[in-house]
Amino acid sequence: MLMILVGTNLKAQRYPRFKVLAFYSTTVESAHVNFANDAIKFFKDLTIGKGFVFDLTTNMDDMNDEKVKDYQLIMMLNDFPTSPAQKQAFEKYMENGGGCMGFHVAAYNDRTTKWPWFVNFLGGGIFDRNSWPPLPAKLVVEDTKHPITNGLPKTYIAPANEWYQWKPSPRANKDVKVLASLSKDNYPLGLKDILPGGDTPVVWTNTNYRMIYLNFGHGGEIFKDATQNRLIIAALRWVIATDKKGNVFENE
Ligand code: ZN
Repeated sequence: MLMILVGTNLKAQRYPRFKVLAFYSTTVESAHVNFANDAIKFFKDLTIGKGFVFDLTTNMDDMNDEKVKDYQLIMMLNDFPTSPAQKQAFEKYMENGGGCMGFHVAAYNDRTTKWPWFVNFLGGGIFDRNSWPPLPAKLVVEDTKHPITNGLPKTYIAPANEWYQWKPSPRANKDVKVLASLSKDNYPLGLKDILPGGDTPVVWTNTNYRMIYLNFGHGGEIFKDATQNRLIIAALRWVIATDKKGNVFENE
């Protein structure tokens, strides 16, 4: 009993161990709003016992130097910076060692994006096409030794999602580490919009930054698979653990 109390006190002294700020929108595609709501519940549940602070905002103008400087991780649930000031603040945050975890549409970009830094940050791929309707898919876990995928099965069936494909594949960038991708067994994937084949990374990091991108994020099924949930939690943990300010998560 005494041990437990001592442990609790130590943890209390360290609180908050880290702070996350999640950006989301309630006015985007309804399936992306559904995902954001599920994600908010999922991550809030992980703060039980005051493990970390999970703050939320629907105001992308909160992407400014003053607001984000206190956070070790910025989460993009279904939105991304669009104004010049927001883009500049995000660039500065990331270039100075900030952490980012982006889902699904957070990596959408096309010819109208006109933000070369962002395309490079994502690994150089431009959104090319997607599968439709949202469907489950077999994922290949590409490196089961990486901290994010350590202990995961080599493949698993991911819950229904709208799957994006980029051109060129982020894998072509030597600075990108792909951790999970669509299995070739899925193709052709889709009923209305078809991914006929090709390389489709689903989870990757640009190793020049403290960032992880996960293509999950469409609809209300995403958090229904334990394997995938474990991957998502490990991804959060990994970005935090690589904090240049001194491994706040590992320093127990
Ligand atoms: Zn979508």
